[in-house]
Amino acid sequence: FNKETFLCNYANTAGCGSCIAKTFNLNINFIPLWRKEFYENLKTVKKIIVPSYSTKNIFLNTYKDLTIEVVEHGYDKINGKPNNDNPDKKKNKLYIVVPCYNEEQVLGETSKRLKIKCENLIQKGQISKDSKIVFVDDGSKDRTWKMISELHETDSLFSGVKLSRNRGHQNALLAGLTMASEHADMAISMDADLQDDINAVDQMIEKYYEGCDIVYGVRSARETDTFFKRFTAEAFYKLINKMGGEIVYNHADYRLMSKRALKGLLEFDEVNIFLRGMVPMVGYQSDIVTYERAERFAGESKYPFKKMLSFAFEGITSLSVKPIKMIFNVGILICIISVLAIIYCLVRHFTNNTVSGWTSLVMSIWFLGGLQLIAIGMVGQYIGKIYLETKARPKFIIEQVLND
Ligand code: UDP
Ligand code: MG
Repeated sequence: FNKETFLCNYANTAGCGSCIAKTFNLNINFIPLWRKEFYENLKTVKKIIVPSYSTKNIFLNTYKDLTIEVVEHGYDKINGKPNNDNPDKKKNKLYIVVPCYNEEQVLGETSKRLKIKCENLIQKGQISKDSKIVFVDDGSKDRTWKMISELHETDSLFSGVKLSRNRGHQNALLAGLTMASEHADMAISMDADLQDDINAVDQMIEKYYEGCDIVYGVRSARETDTFFKRFTAEAFYKLINKMGGEIVYNHADYRLMSKRALKGLLEFDEVNIFLRGMVPMVGYQSDIVTYERAERFAGESKYPFKKMLSFAFEGITSLSVKPIKMIFNVGILICIISVLAIIYCLVRHFTNNTVSGWTSLVMSIWFLGGLQLIAIGMVGQYIGKIYLETKARPKFIIEQVLND
């Protein structure tokens, strides 16, 4: 008791006496007798740290005449979770970012469902009251922006960002995330059609409080997608990974990112963005949350097969230079084959089994072909380097420094 600060480790609604009893391994039954003594000794203590808001209140109500600073450390050692029972404490602010392109058919329902979700989270004390839902209008041609403005006017929970013209899903998303990185502690991105189950949000936020900076939403089942969509989508993930892009399998753009992860992402200066491939490059502790993908409840997919193909191509070419390396490797392979072909031609030539001129012709075709591919591959390697330099990606992002 001669310490000035007292750390109380256990949450216990029986009151602070028992907390301290536990800290000192005292038998709980002794508390009523011991409390008076404890009270006397408390006069030398200037500050006491308790686990939660409720313990703090019990303490202050029990020892009304003491002028001790009572601080809650907000962490429940028993459950290993942040202790969020304080209604006044500043909660982490969440921004839900939703890109919308011609989504007038779904926006009404989506805003309703998201509003219920957010209010629920606020009520449970998971997120702060000034959390927001940000709709990004990606140059829609229908009533989307009008609806967003109306939502914003009737309810301050809704915010809007309007792009000057259609710039595509990824850019619209980045616009929203940029705004979130300035105002929010964490941001969750999701599609306007709510095909991605919004109930996964709770788990994402839980993981965030457990210390994750990035939480990926991963689709566990695609029963509602057509066979064609499922097949092409899965081939898409496999192809990109083979081509040197590190992406999380079956994860689209439904994810939570902390403020510092967002800041890290924004350090990537590239113009051709493919967020699913870039986010893993940011690093930090991450985890996944699985959910079932539902059907679009209204409107049409804005990703027809043609757009999906170009998206896959965009993904590969904006993430890696592996295709160039492949050209180089094919060049080497053909050169090796050409050596075999030359041996074969020479044997045929000396056994007099050939038409005149054939040997030299075939030999040069193979050899020159291989040589040219190697040369293109070599040039390509340099172009690849230039390409990566122009992307000006951050060379590193620091997570922690120990230096006192
Ligand atoms: N989207 C966008 N700009 C575009 C195309 C799509 O902002 O140019 C948005 C769209 O409003 C939706 C999300 O991107 O919120 C995903 O689109 P969609 O649901 O059509 O794709 P799918 O789920 O079929 O892959
Ligand atoms: Mg969709």
